[in-house]
Amino acid sequence: MERLQNFVDGGWRASSAKDALNVIDPASAKVLAEVPLSPATDVNAAVEVAERAFIDWWRTPVVDRIQPLFRLKTLLEEHREELALSITNECGKTLVESRAEILRAVENVETACAMPIMIQGTNCEDIARGIDEHMIRQPLGVVAAIVPFNFPGMIAFWFFPYAVAAGNCFLLKPSERVPITSQKLFQLIQAAGFPPGVMQLVNGGRDAVNAILDHPGIKAVSFVGSTATAKYVYSRAAANGKRAQCQGGAKNPVVVMPDADMEMTTRILADSAFGCAGQRCLAASVAITVGDARTFTDRIVAAAKSRKTGYGALPDVEMGPVISAESKARIEGLIAKGEQAGARVVVDGRGKKVAGYEDGYFVLPTVLDDVPPDSETARTEIFGPVLSLIHAQTIEEAIALVNGRSYGNMACIFTTDGANARRFRYEVQAGNVGINVGVAAPMSTFPFSGWGESFFGDLHAQAHHAVEFFTQTKVVVERWPKEWSRKF
Ligand code: NAD
Repeated sequence: MERLQNFVDGGWRASSAKDALNVIDPASAKVLAEVPLSPATDVNAAVEVAERAFIDWWRTPVVDRIQPLFRLKTLLEEHREELALSITNECGKTLVESRAEILRAVENVETACAMPIMIQGTNCEDIARGIDEHMIRQPLGVVAAIVPFNFPGMIAFWFFPYAVAAGNCFLLKPSERVPITSQKLFQLIQAAGFPPGVMQLVNGGRDAVNAILDHPGIKAVSFVGSTATAKYVYSRAAANGKRAQCQGGAKNPVVVMPDADMEMTTRILADSAFGCAGQRCLAASVAITVGDARTFTDRIVAAAKSRKTGYGALPDVEMGPVISAESKARIEGLIAKGEQAGARVVVDGRGKKVAGYEDGYFVLPTVLDDVPPDSETARTEIFGPVLSLIHAQTIEEAIALVNGRSYGNMACIFTTDGANARRFRYEVQAGNVGINVGVAAPMSTFPFSGWGESFFGDLHAQAHHAVEFFTQTKVVVERWPKEWSRKF
């Protein structure tokens, strides 16, 4: 059984962990590898190496700091298929979905290569007579990211290309459930030629996270995961004086207006709700039909029933398994709770087997109709292929339902009426809004995060928000009396 390694000081190192977990292929339930649960001493050693590497890396001109990123982009493209298969095997999603992850990773590398422009400060000559004032951006030092299971090949890229291009050293703690793709990514990172200590990988679980949150050498923490953990990470990082950006869970409502193009709406919403087996922070999880749009119910039922579920690397498969046996049990439990609260299970994905993959953690697409808006099923993140339907009479009622929830990651509307679309865009409480779009994921050139219980912090992931998060500003006020008193 392969035991995964940490990447520290430019090379692969065995973790000193006594404890380890099995990494499991969710389609077959077969063990793929063993991941060490690194103790605090491993994290501390990696931070010390990164602290030593920081001074030289900071003093490396920004145009030189982006050169390993240019090489990494090419390597990611060359190894895209191998990375995609790794994602599919440890996370369960289809190859098409896995390839899309790598595409977004590459986009973030490309955007970070604009750092010589993005890191520029501002200045004002003669802010007072003979006095010039400049604002410059400098890196923070060592920064870290703690990431979830559902995008093993993408989420780290929301952070590290910007962090290192801005002159920081970086430590990644991948999800202990999907650590294999990070091993492959760090092989490419090694080949891209970052100096030793600039990029570090430490595998682990809670102990590694706590060590990151407590180490005084780590200046900023980026977190993506469930809301409960996001709140915990945010408060412990802040109590230790660190910057923190913590992205949490979601429950994303989609409003379907009666004038929507129903064929297009159904196709896009089926992909949003059931794509990645619903394990996406931007998955549609509640569809609110308005008035005559109730006919959407029959269409989405047909789409859910026809979706092909199985091992994600097979060519005709449209949806893979969920991540674990516990996750399957939790999802099925929430469907049952919805039923007990009065919802009708019009497509039931519980207790189904996939031929050839009988041990896999499959929940088939599920549709619940007439879900009471205040029920747990309508309000809690299910993180599985389950779409709840609620029916409203007016757009006012639909917007009130959208805004009456605690999460604020995404809200979408399907309509052909521009005025309704504008009103929706204007009034909804969400960090990402889709108009005739089912997964409103910002491209890498825009910042990405949610509102409410979906985000704790100020600056979001990606693009110029990432540049601001990973740099601190210094304002210089400058006077040269000899030059100022010179006669013109
Ligand atoms: P999770 O919170 O269980 O784990 C995320 C990370 O935190 C992992 O690296 C894990 O090792 C660590 N962790 C977990 N529990 C911890 C604890 N008690 N103390 C310290 N560290 C802990 O999340 P997950 O199940 O891996 O991912 C799914 C969740 O992530 C969903 O809620 C989903 O909505 C969310 N997510 C959000 C976004 C977003 O952009 N808002 C993106 C992707 C996923």
